[in-house]
Order: sequence, then C-alpha cells, then structure tokens
Amino acid sequence: MTTEPTSTPAAAPRNDLRFIVIGAGMSGILSAIKLKQAGFDDFAVYEKADRLGGTWRENTYPGIACDVPSHFYSYSFAPNPDWSHRFSPGAEIHAYFEAVAHRYGVHERIQFGKEVTRCAFEDGRWRIETSDGATDVADFVIAATGVLHHPAIPDIEGLDDFEGALFHSARWDHDVPVAGKRVGVVGTGSSAIQIVSALVDRVEELTLFQRTAQWITPIENPAYSDTEKAEFQEHPEAMQTIRDAVARAFTDGFANVLVDADSPMLQVIHDSCLANLENNVKDPELREKLRPDYRATCKRLIMSEDFYDAIQRPNAKLVTEGIERLEKSGVRTRDGRLHELDVLVLATGFRVEDFVRPMRVIGRSGASMDEVWKDGPFAHLAISVPDFPNFFMLNGPNGPVGNFSLIEVAELQFGYILQLVEQVRSGACDEICASQEAMQRFDAERREAAKKTIWASGCKSWYLDADGLPTAWPFTFDRFREEMSKPQLGDFERR
Ligand code: NAP
Repeated sequence: MTTEPTSTPAAAPRNDLRFIVIGAGMSGILSAIKLKQAGFDDFAVYEKADRLGGTWRENTYPGIACDVPSHFYSYSFAPNPDWSHRFSPGAEIHAYFEAVAHRYGVHERIQFGKEVTRCAFEDGRWRIETSDGATDVADFVIAATGVLHHPAIPDIEGLDDFEGALFHSARWDHDVPVAGKRVGVVGTGSSAIQIVSALVDRVEELTLFQRTAQWITPIENPAYSDTEKAEFQEHPEAMQTIRDAVARAFTDGFANVLVDADSPMLQVIHDSCLANLENNVKDPELREKLRPDYRATCKRLIMSEDFYDAIQRPNAKLVTEGIERLEKSGVRTRDGRLHELDVLVLATGFRVEDFVRPMRVIGRSGASMDEVWKDGPFAHLAISVPDFPNFFMLNGPNGPVGNFSLIEVAELQFGYILQLVEQVRSGACDEICASQEAMQRFDAERREAAKKTIWASGCKSWYLDADGLPTAWPFTFDRFREEMSKPQLGDFERR
C-alpha cells in the first residue's frame, strides 16, 4: 500500500526524538555529526569494538591504502590539508576519522564494547539489546554497520593442520614477524595486491596463490609536498577544486559507465589495463598467467603502481595451480607440490551478504530481517525495508559500491534519511518506511538493469548474488545523486 503524501501534520512537531546509531565507522561517525548538526541531540552510538574506524580499524595489513584519492575520500565538510599522498595509507585515514570524531564532539557519544545483538520494533519504538545485557529504546535506528566486515574464511581442507602463522588480511597479526620469512598470500583482490607489493622486499620468499587473474590499472601515488599542504591549509578551496574534479572524473569516467557493458569508455579502460600487462610483465609465461580471461572492471578494478614489479622480483612466486589442502609445513597444490611457508595470509575477502546481521532485527510485523532477506538482502534505494519503520541503513544492500568514495554515498544517503526523519519530527507521521509496492518496483527495475552492467559480463566477484546477478547499484551515479536529493514520499508508507 502506498500512502499518498500529505502536507497536513497529523500531530504536533516532535523535538524529543531519540536515535541509535549502530557502528562507529565512517558512516556511523557521519551520522552522529549530521544528527547533531540537524539539532537532534538525543542519540547514542553503539560500537562493538574498543575503537572507532570500522574497516580502517580492522584492516591494518602492510600496504593498506585507499585507492580513492584522499581529497575525495574525506567528508565534504571536513577537508584535510594534511593528507600525505594522493592515495593515503590506512593508518592516516583511521587517524583522520578519530580526529574528525573528536573535533565534531561525537567521540564522547560513542559507547565502545557494546555490540547490538537485537533490535525489535515494539509499541512504536525500537528496543535495542546489547552484548553486555543492556537495553535502550529509540525512535530511529541508523544501521551504519558497513559492508566489508565479516572476513570470508575459505573452505580449504587442513586449515588447522598448518603449523605456521595463519590469519585473514582483515585480522593481521602484527606479533608475527614476516621479515626474512616465507610468506604465502591467498587471493588476488585489492587487499592481496597491496599486501604483495608491500611485503615482497621484506620477506625471504613471497608466494601468491592466484585462483583468478586480475586486471590492474596503473596509478601514480605522489606525496603532497609541504608547500602543497600549506597551500591547502591557507586556501581550502584548492582542496574543493581537487575534490570536484575527482568526483566528476570518477562519475563520468567510471561509475556511470560500469552500468553499461557496451560503453566505449570500458574499452578504453580495458585497453589501458592490457597495455599495462603487455608492457610491464617481461616473462611471457608469467604474463600469460597474469592475463585475465574476462573484461576489465567486471571485477572491482585493481589500482596499483607496483604490483607487476613486485610479482617479478626474484623472491616472488605466482602459483596458479589450485590449492588441494594445507599441511603442517605449507600449501599442497593440486599438482602435488608442497609450497613450504612460515606465514599464510588469507586475503580472501568478506561475506558481503550479511549487512546488518548477525544482529537480529525484528520489524513491525514480527518478522525478522533474516526471514525477510531469506532470498538475499534488499532495501528500497539501499536504505529502507518495508515493515521496518524508522530503521535506515547506510551503505546497505544494492547501493553503489565500487571504485569511488563510499563517503560520498553515505553523505547523500544521510541527507535523504534526514528528510524521512523530518516526516516524523514535523508530526506528519510516527512511522515511515518504504512501501512494499515501491520496494518491488525498485527491485524489479534494479534486477533488469543489473543484467546490462559490466559486472554481469562473465566473471565471478563479490558483487554477484547467489544467482550470479550483480547486487550493486546498477544505475548511473548521477541517478543516485538525483534519487538521494529528495525522497518520493509516495514511495513510503507512513502511519
Ligand atoms: P576480494 O576482492 O573479494 O578478493 C578475494 C580474493 O580471494 C579473490 O582473488 C578470490 O579469488 C580469492 N579467494 C577466495 N576464496 C578462495 C579460495 N578458496 N581459494 C583461492 N582463492 C580464493 O577481497 P579483498 O581483496 O579483501 O577486497 C574486497 C573489497 O574490499 C574490494 O573489492 C574493495 O571494495 C575493498 N578494498 C578496497 C581497497 C581500497 O584500496 N580502497 C583495498 C582493499 C579492499 P577469485 O577471484 O577466484 O574469487
């Protein structure tokens, strides 16, 4: 049922609304700041860990950086003149979020070590339970729980038999020495490529276990000079100029073209990756092993200025034979060879379909999110699920993901959410969520569009659902901006 928009408030404006933000990563910090700025001061941020930072807290592997330019991968309202590089390292990004949270007075609002285990909509409000047995009640829940936060541990036989050190890339064990050791890396995603490049000169031998070759686009990562940083400090508009230029270039040259597999721009990107491979990998046998058999950008494009150099070092070894099992001294591949190792890193990605789970979320009808999402997660415009009123997700299912700034995505989404909140604050309704009809219409259109994207052009990736259909936002990024600018209130059920 779609409730038609009404301009007549049902009741008096409400200035007593309470919010709970789940997660103190990039989008949770954003939510807290934006709530404060909008005049909503009654909120709590629950964070399961003992520090903020989300993905930038959890991923500390050697070489970690963001492959989105730093002046774009920053909050629009908090430019940072001190970024060290065009693509700054992870620790610097983490420090940036810490600094912003302090500067905007939201750090003290974060309750650390409190994992939200259950949220239930009861008697018109959300009742929250946390891992320490505490409860809380709020009018709104903002689930800022992230996308890439449940490590995927591969189903490889003998994981427990390996006597060396073994850990996932997102759980890097800094107590394990790698210098002078024989280190193996499983996977060739963005994480693995950064790890290989950073480690190869520190270890005795580096073995990369590749199941699927990756297209690599070369990027340069110059450091900002002190003069440039001083210029940014003095003239913040210079940072805005970079930001606008990068945003436009990412939108026109990338995000907007990925959704049309026939776009000529995709061929340009493909050709540049191909030239990178042909020109920079000398040994023909290695070059063939590194040559993907699908189109560039079908998987998330890897950006690296040094991976091909790294994998051609004398102490680097690329293994393309499948992994049979782990044994106490290393990895046995299907050709019977044993690759002896001291350390094995599983750079094997994340379980992306979980979203807000394992938290148990119970909606208005009594159904849980697990039941509603039994065939896969969905949300109207990635934000709202029918029958889960006043519960909004940032970077939720079917939203834009890819080689651009998830900060911009979250900022646009939060602007949209605030307009939904305004419906309740103004007294127009008490409860608001996407209508079933709008949700189904959006999902049908999304599914149809997904088939035409480059992600559906014949490769395996974390963008695909169990049926092989891309789950990411399949429309242009310009359309996303447009959709986020103003909710179509007719698509929302309001009570
Ligand atoms: P990923 O892209 O999902 O890559 C996982 C890798 O592990 C793939 O190469 C996969 O092979 C391999 N793999 C998985 N299970 C395996 C098995 N059983 N045996 C052998 N290989 C196996 O994960 P990720 O590299 O951690 O990156 C995830 C996402 O995080 C990225 O796409 C990106 O969105 C984000 N990220 C961003 C940055 C950045 O700079 N902004 C850096 C790191 C990560 P197949 O390809 O054959 O499946």
